[in-house]
Amino acid sequence: MPELPEAETIVRGLRTTIVGESIRRVEVLHLDILRQTKAIFSKRVRLRRINGIERRGKNILLVLNGGWVIKVNLGMTGRLLPFSRPPRGTERPSHPAVRIRFLSGALLVFDDTRRFGSVEALSGTEWNEWSNLMGPEPLGPTYQVSRLISGLKSSSSPIRSWLLDQKRIAGVGNIYANEALYLAGIHPQRQSRTVTRNEVKALYRSLRSVLADAIKAGGTTIQDYRNTDGDKGEYAGQLSIYGREGKPCYGCNSEVQRVVFSNRSAFYCPSCQPFRRNK
Ligand SMILES: [Zn+2]
Repeated sequence: MPELPEAETIVRGLRTTIVGESIRRVEVLHLDILRQTKAIFSKRVRLRRINGIERRGKNILLVLNGGWVIKVNLGMTGRLLPFSRPPRGTERPSHPAVRIRFLSGALLVFDDTRRFGSVEALSGTEWNEWSNLMGPEPLGPTYQVSRLISGLKSSSSPIRSWLLDQKRIAGVGNIYANEALYLAGIHPQRQSRTVTRNEVKALYRSLRSVLADAIKAGGTTIQDYRNTDGDKGEYAGQLSIYGREGKPCYGCNSEVQRVVFSNRSAFYCPSCQPFRRNK
């Protein structure tokens, strides 16, 4: 499932391809992808120019003139594929859900095999209301360790669940939550408020470094994720703990364990990430 680094990689790809394009018309092939009627979506975006591409959490934003925004969530298998001309033959996306056609003849296709993704056109005010419900950006210049400390100390949730809550912190999903907790030596089921100040400091550093390194690698492809060129992200080869159940921990050789809670797998090393700490 695409997380912050994958969305950021796509944003960077779109900045070099579709900024400056004006929308001629939209084609919606699967209505369940739209979070509004096709008529409203079309009316809100038609003949508008794409002024920029931004990211908020795992969401990709096409910023249009007039303050309008197209918010795209990739869900599990969503892809945003720009084409300078209509694709032919094998270039054609396999599961197109929304096509945005530009005046230049170029187009942007939202392709989604499993259709858990979403596309929605919002006014500037609607977008701000939506964005204000989300937690801070972990790579943002104003995100300080004090914010993480105060957020965790009032929560009885398992820390992995806390990290996945987009209202607490934006853009972190299961892969990078597991990686950051491993590097910080924190068991994924630890109650958030029991995590010590020094552990939170370690988590703050590991979270930011994992996300930044994954962006450098173009994200992680476990199965479906592709960038705007249709290429896989290369961070999968750098994963320390995610998906390594039964294999030796890189730090201590103990066998990596997997536990399922909140319907998601968590991976951890029982030696490097003990559930209870001796005081
Ligand atoms: Zn270990």
